[in-house]
Amino acid sequence: MTKAEKLQRLQEKMEKDDSLPLKTRDTNLVFGVGNPDTKILAVGEGPGHWENLKKEPFVGNAGKFLDQLLRSINMPRESVYITNVVHHRPPENRDPLPEEMSAYGKYLDEMIKIIDPEVIITLGRFSMGKFLPTAKISTTHGKLFRVNWNDKDFFVIPMYHPAASLRNGEIMRQEKEDFLRLPDALKKVAEEKKKKVPKSEQMGLI
Ligand code: URA
Repeated sequence: MTKAEKLQRLQEKMEKDDSLPLKTRDTNLVFGVGNPDTKILAVGEGPGHWENLKKEPFVGNAGKFLDQLLRSINMPRESVYITNVVHHRPPENRDPLPEEMSAYGKYLDEMIKIIDPEVIITLGRFSMGKFLPTAKISTTHGKLFRVNWNDKDFFVIPMYHPAASLRNGEIMRQEKEDFLRLPDALKKVAEEKKKKVPKSEQMGLI
């Protein structure tokens, strides 16, 4: 089965799961979009108004800025895979609750297993918190971390949430710079992957 077929199956399973806490008559499943064979998985927070309507992540203003960031490094939206930590819109766009993140988390973990990306770009503090629970975005943004996640060796780069950039010019400046450094980080990941790193050392800044 191809990765796309596996994702399709997972999406169908998720559609049928009535236990998902943010599933209501007014919310659509916003599963994910992009290239399942990508090396890069971007994980945001949760769908907003436009994402809920179009059933696609990052299609509002924050999404337009994310597209711009990705285009700046010649990685158009279609070349990566984009999803969120929760896949139904939280009411009034509030922050997702820990129990919601854990309910949706089992599906996100499956998605990660299927896509098997080299690098996970976290967009905002909620998705960063999933992989790097003690990290602070102000000091870690744009840096490359090795993370052992569900017994797999991954690389994570925390990025500011694009909506935060739209609210603050200095954050926008830093986020543009962080994205411009991403191609170098990918080269570093390719080198790191050749190294045999003991499990006990598979966490931390590179
Ligand atoms: N913000 C997010 O975190 N995710 C989306 O899909 C849209 C906006």
